[in-house]
Amino acid sequence: MIAMARTRARTAKRWQDADEMRWAVRHWAARIDVKVPLVHFRAMRTKWASMSHRRLTLDTGLLKLPKDLGEFVVVHELVHVLVRNHGRVFKSFMYAYMPDWEERDRRLRMRWKPAPPCDVAAR
Ligand SMILES: [Zn+2]
Repeated sequence: MIAMARTRARTAKRWQDADEMRWAVRHWAARIDVKVPLVHFRAMRTKWASMSHRRLTLDTGLLKLPKDLGEFVVVHELVHVLVRNHGRVFKSFMYAYMPDWEERDRRLRMRWKPAPPCDVAAR
């Protein structure tokens, strides 16, 4: 059981491809109870993602990072469907869905790109 968990952790560390990340978006959208957005990938310099209307754009760079960091960005963007800023209510949703989101946020910015997940106003 433990050996299996270890193997899984090792092999599940990185995204297989963009489709796997699209599935993660569907999974989290169902969990957070928001509509599944259209997902696009493109290279982004100053942020990791953006969410506008029904369209979620993700930085292609996320596909090369550990999955838990991409999942953090996905959850962050989907919570923006509920709360359109980074205030207290936003953070309480983040704690509810991903209790260790702050640690992931820190790792994402320190190790890869010192950018916020997105540029929604009022952070
Ligand atoms: Zn944001």
